[in-house]
Amino acid sequence: MGKKTKIKIDYSICGDGNEIDPRECLRCLKVCEPALFLLHESFGVEEENPYDPQIWRVTPLYPSLCTRCMKCVESCPGKAIQVTW
Ligand code: SF4
Ligand code: SF4
Repeated sequence: MGKKTKIKIDYSICGDGNEIDPRECLRCLKVCEPALFLLHESFGVEEENPYDPQIWRVTPLYPSLCTRCMKCVESCPGKAIQVTW
């Protein structure tokens, strides 16, 4: 593959207490064969409110492993994922 793959998640839709709680969805994690998504609490959360159950995110790690299958994009109920290259 030539150009680098970029994977972007719109956190105004998924996570950070917005429309979708990624812990309840997790579809991108399930469909991605190279398993490059990570579910985690937002960084810096300890300075905010560590007990806030809404502060969760999925972050795409290692975009170089992405096969560009687009399954995450297709399965995301909020259309929060963009995969480009
Ligand atoms: S396009 Fe496919 S390989 Fe790439 S992040 Fe999405 S599900 Fe994973
Ligand atoms: S599939 Fe979309 S809405 Fe679901 S956890 Fe992944 S990014 Fe969030």
